Amino acid sequence: MTGPRDVAAVTAPEGAGAAGLPLLRAEGLVRHFAVRRHLFSRAGAVVRAVDGVDLTVMPGETLGIVGESGCGKSTLGRLLLRLIEPTAGRVFFQGEDLGLLDASALRARRRSLQIIFQDPYSSLNPTMTVASILAEPLRLHGLAQSGAAVHARVADLLRTVGLSPDHARRYPHEFSGGQRQRIGIARALAVEPRLIVCDEAVSALDVSVQAQVINLMMDLQRRFGLAYVFIAHDLAVVRHIATRVAVMYLGRIVEIGDKEAIFGNSRHPYTRALLDAVPRSSPQASASAGGAVRRVLLEGDVPNPSAPPSGCRFHTRCPYVQDRCRVEEPVLASTAATGDHRAACHFAEEIARSRGTLPVAPQEPDDPVLASRLLRLQRAFVQDVSFNEVPP
Ligand code: SF4
Repeated sequence: MTGPRDVAAVTAPEGAGAAGLPLLRAEGLVRHFAVRRHLFSRAGAVVRAVDGVDLTVMPGETLGIVGESGCGKSTLGRLLLRLIEPTAGRVFFQGEDLGLLDASALRARRRSLQIIFQDPYSSLNPTMTVASILAEPLRLHGLAQSGAAVHARVADLLRTVGLSPDHARRYPHEFSGGQRQRIGIARALAVEPRLIVCDEAVSALDVSVQAQVINLMMDLQRRFGLAYVFIAHDLAVVRHIATRVAVMYLGRIVEIGDKEAIFGNSRHPYTRALLDAVPRSSPQASASAGGAVRRVLLEGDVPNPSAPPSGCRFHTRCPYVQDRCRVEEPVLASTAATGDHRAACHFAEEIARSRGTLPVAPQEPDDPVLASRLLRLQRAFVQDVSFNEVPP
């Protein structure tokens, strides 16, 4: 095949894929936005979209980033690719500081760093055929020059994402949402990336298509050794695809760890509240998740990011708040027992031990349609079949 390199055929560039070395590393990443009331007014408040984030992404892994709308996760995704400049902090890719690259070096480096957006329609040029959309990055990066080579590579990419080479002649509006997202994935794959940021990449899709696209992405990851930063608000999807999970709140990571630790033994009250907000498919599922009768209540809206609360930013909504929380900001820390599982909470250990004695919340979601959607999605994942084949 002449398409993206098979993982076995990949020759890792220097510094990438070596045992224990991260593919991407962010240090103290900050992005503030000045807010103007109108076009000609002076900048007033400063929105702290991302406010001090450290993270690493290892080769071939999927780091899920979750949090409520407005927590800064999409801004973080763009900072990692240097699509927007940070106010402070640095991003290293394969050990190289992206902030030190000039425009032409950055353009060359972008070949390894791709992004898939939420809306597959608006991210594809409606006036270009699929062939032109896929040929553009190939020519830009010198991966195929002659007409025949480009044609063969486009056909190969389309087959790789489960489409037909005949689709190359069509325009984006002639495809369904799921097919358009497959085209977006093919465009990202065209330049043989090592890391793809998926910004709510399946959120706009019907749940019946979500499982298919997710399974395709996981298959591509196995074949080509890709790393993903998977930004999503749907915890069921993140649970399926992620290797590790970072939970964001008001511009900061409040908990990070392996998927099993986050979903099975969360230590931060915000994470537990997010998990408890996911509709459980049955009382048995609730019980197996350790929340049959007791759940963390998450009340109120996310505070204004231009004036985050003092101390712990979550203290205005936390059911465990104490005086110390209002004045002292907790650091993202682990213990000898938790290893790489870190949480930013003064009382993480006490709260972890308190499981089963939490405030009581309604046991099941009020929305049976939502619960039914989740159950079918989970079955589709588990059985690895099309959602449409799963009985309601
Ligand atoms: Fe809640 Fe205090 Fe922990 Fe913050 S530090 S999450 S307010 S208990």
